[in-house]
This record gives sequence, C-alpha cells and structure tokens, in this order.
Amino acid sequence: MGAGGTACPVYKALFHERNPRGSFLQTATYEQEFAYPWQDPGCHLWFFDDGLPGYAWYVPKANGHVNVGLGGMADQLKDRAGNIKQFWQKFVRKLAKRGLVNYDGYHPTGYSYYLRGAVDVVSDENAYIVGDSVGLATVDMCEGIGPAVRSGLLAADSIVTGAEYSLAGIDRFSGGGFFSKVLPPGQSETNFCQNGSAVVDFSARCSSGVSSACTRRVANLSTRAASVPAGKADVNAPNSL
Ligand SMILES: Cc1cc2nc3c(=O)[nH]c(=O)nc-3n(C[C@H](O)[C@H](O)[C@H](O)COP(=O)(O)OP(=O)(O)OC[C@H]3O[C@@H](n4cnc5c(N)ncnc54)[C@H](O)[C@@H]3O)c2cc1C
Repeated sequence: MGAGGTACPVYKALFHERNPRGSFLQTATYEQEFAYPWQDPGCHLWFFDDGLPGYAWYVPKANGHVNVGLGGMADQLKDRAGNIKQFWQKFVRKLAKRGLVNYDGYHPTGYSYYLRGAVDVVSDENAYIVGDSVGLATVDMCEGIGPAVRSGLLAADSIVTGAEYSLAGIDRFSGGGFFSKVLPPGQSETNFCQNGSAVVDFSARCSSGVSSACTRRVANLSTRAASVPAGKADVNAPNSL
C-alpha cells in the first residue's frame, strides 16, 4: 500500500512511469504551527494577497497554539516571485502589522503535493496507491485530506472484498463544486465571504470557484477553529485553514 505522501516510495517504484504527475499540478506550501498566546479567535484567510497565486491563513488552535501558512501553485509561485520565502516574509509582516501574530522564532516547513490530474492507474495486482501518493487534492481548493481518507478506505475495501479500486467516486472539486456554478457573476467576494469571526480578505477579484468554496468553509470555521487541537487537522474544514 503506497500511502507515503508526495515522496511515496511505492509510487516511485511501481506507478511513476504510468502515472506521471504534471508539474503544472504541483502545489507549494510553507507553514508553521507553534505555541502562541493568540488574542483573535477567528480564522483569517487571504486570497491572492500581494500577488500570491493562492492563499494564506491564520488559524488559532486549542491550548494556545496557532497555525499560519501560505500555499499556491508551484509554477506560478516561481514565475511571480522566484521564491515562496519572499511571500512568507511579506505574510509574517502582515500578521504582525494586524496584531495577529508577533513572533521572532519562525522556522516554517515547506511541503509540496499534487492536485488531481488524469490519474487512472492506482493499483497493480496487490500494489495500491492512495492520497498524495497518487496526487488527489481538489482542483479548486487544493484540499487533499478528504480524498486521501476516501481513497484509503476504497483501497482497504478492495483488499478485503476484492471489489475494484477506482477513484471514480472521489470528487475533483471541494464540495462538488456546486457553489461555483450557482454564484452570480460579478458578486463581490469580499462581502460575500465575510461571516462571523472568520474573515476572508480578497485582494483581487477571484474566480467564483474559490470564493464559493471559501464561503462555505468559513461558515464552519468560525465555530470550529479554536477547538482544533494543535497538530490535528479537521477533515471537513481547511485544517490549516
Ligand atoms: C501546509 C499544508 C496545508 C494543507 N492544508 C490542507 C487543508 O486545509 N485541507 C486539506 O484537505 N488538505 C490540506 N493539505 C493537503 C493534505 O495535508 C494532504 O493532501 C494529505 O495530508 C495527504 O494525506 P496522505 O495520507 O496521502 O499523505 P501524508 O499526510 O503526507 O502522509 C504520508 C505519511 O507517510 C509517511 N511516510 C512517507 N514515506 C514513508 C515510508 N517510506 N515508510 C513509512 N512511512 C512513510 C509520512 O511520514 C507521512 O506520515 C495541506 C498540506 C499542507 C502541506
């Protein structure tokens, strides 16, 4: 069972040639979680801020921890700034300026994973790949936790029952992309996305796909974020978001 994430050795050894991942589907992230006496209990998301081709987040967690980070499509990050670290520097300055996090000990960790592409070979006799090993994150919100869990369950079911292991039932979009279709064109994302203590800032007009998904997420986040323990992710919400 290849469940080792992006650098999964099972993927490399058995599936890489038949399932090459497209570099245009690669994400790059930079994040850090640490003990911090946060004051603002709301989640903050910033989409396309300062030219970032993606989004950044501030998430206060239980027991005095906070998770901050940013991510975007790797190719676009390279094109725009040459280095994700430059976006990080601007981001942490913004956190300090807004009074959200004023911290001297940053040492963020970088990670990369792939969005869902034209993946069709995910098993070979008794070998399977799931989650980031395949590259299954949703193409609109880059969410990989749900697809990783679902593909793991499907692969396990195949092993136990002999049923075919197929990704057909795993959605390519967060929430099925329904909101993307119903949002009226020209909607002001900033107003549309503000909800309770969770605030979404759009620095530029963005695609309705992103705005709709975040609206739905934000509604959940405001009640859940500060109760998520440090180091834990919430499958239904952008954890880190
Ligand atoms: C900063 C950041 C924020 C994210 N935010 C979100 C979000 O808000 N929502 C969302 O849905 N997704 C998010 N994602 C993506 C999500 O985390 C991944 O898509 C998901 O965790 C993939 O799960 P996985 O089990 O396939 O791989 P992983 O979570 O990477 O787990 C793979 C595991 O295999 C282990 N491993 C690797 N090699 C070996 C080996 N040789 N032997 C044994 N073990 C091995 C690794 O140590 C690791 O524990 C985020 C990712 C990052 C980096």
